[in-house]
Amino acid sequence: MTTRTLASQALVVGGGQAGLATAYYLRRAGVEYVVLDDQDRPGGAWRHTWDSLRLFSPATFSSLPGWQMPPTGGYPDAEHVVDYLTQYEQRYTMPVRRGVKVIAVEAPGAGYRVTTSEGTWHADAVFNATGTWSRPFIPTHPGAATFSGEQLHSAQYRSWEPYTGRRVVVVGGGNSGAQIAADLSGQAEVTWCTTEPPRFLPDEVDGRELFRVASLRARGLGEGIGGLGDIVAVPPVRTARDAGLLHRVPMFERFTAEGVAWSDGTTRPVDAVIWCTGFRPQLSHLTPLGLHRDDGLPSTDGPVAANRPTLGFVGYGDWCGLASATLIGVGQWARQAVQRALR
Ligand code: FAD
Repeated sequence: MTTRTLASQALVVGGGQAGLATAYYLRRAGVEYVVLDDQDRPGGAWRHTWDSLRLFSPATFSSLPGWQMPPTGGYPDAEHVVDYLTQYEQRYTMPVRRGVKVIAVEAPGAGYRVTTSEGTWHADAVFNATGTWSRPFIPTHPGAATFSGEQLHSAQYRSWEPYTGRRVVVVGGGNSGAQIAADLSGQAEVTWCTTEPPRFLPDEVDGRELFRVASLRARGLGEGIGGLGDIVAVPPVRTARDAGLLHRVPMFERFTAEGVAWSDGTTRPVDAVIWCTGFRPQLSHLTPLGLHRDDGLPSTDGPVAANRPTLGFVGYGDWCGLASATLIGVGQWARQAVQRALR
């Protein structure tokens, strides 16, 4: 273990898109900083998606501050995003240390003591950009422990191939549920369960419109069309839907040993259940700070901790910045977090 002391420096925890956007503004502000990331390669969560995933906006609407994502002529795949983030980091010669896990952040006096898998660091400001993919959320459901089949979260799903010819339940009415149900359709025997009927955005509406709506809402201006939770009809979803392969049924009530059962007594044998039920922010390293919490999340004032502007939260979604969990939306919140911390 080595110990480094960084005078008047900032540490960014997490080297995905949110960490890089924060690094961009720290660099512009002339602050000495380091990004610590526990992965061995660039790309953050985009390295862990399923193969057929497509962005819900074209490349030109999926860019971080400073440099536009190279166009692809359609909706980019995750590999394109990984390439973009890799080049983005190189373009601005960002000091990203990979394979370094931040274990604990403490505030023993002025500034922060940050314990990592590679030693202890000291910094005046800490920006958390650890994302959510490493904390998949699966709701508790009656009988789940008795089910003899496979259960996995969308975070672990890669492709339809292992499920060929098998009976699969996909749970979740958001974009992940729709995309995975579409990916499996025609290959597996799919049952798509959602608590509410899924709402598809019109085909001509994509992530650009969602971002516009989010920006309006951030300024307290109107709702715009649809809800931000609506499903974007990306090409694979549209193809499955148009082929009549995307049917939704209400959520089942409980598991049985062999499958699932609905409240009307219907049962269905099932080989696998894929939970597309979202994620939670990965913030366990902040436990020693004993931050005040609202609804289980640290209390924030925009993208910084309430009463602690030198502790930033970038990229986790609406609780710390509307649309901050998107490529195009994260930049404005990274800029604000850096400005607030330096003030
Ligand atoms: P991440 O990419 O997860 O990066 C965080 C990094 O921090 C990771 O490398 C992680 O390993 C690391 N880390 C975590 N904990 C620690 C620690 N303690 N110490 C050190 N490192 C740590 N957005 C769009 O703009 N367009 C889309 O089309 C789109 N589609 C999506 C589809 C799906 C299915 C999902 C799940 C999300 C989608 N998003 C989309 C949302 C969003 O862009 C991603 O979730 C994004 O990857 C989040 O970036 P991030 O930098 O906040 O987190």
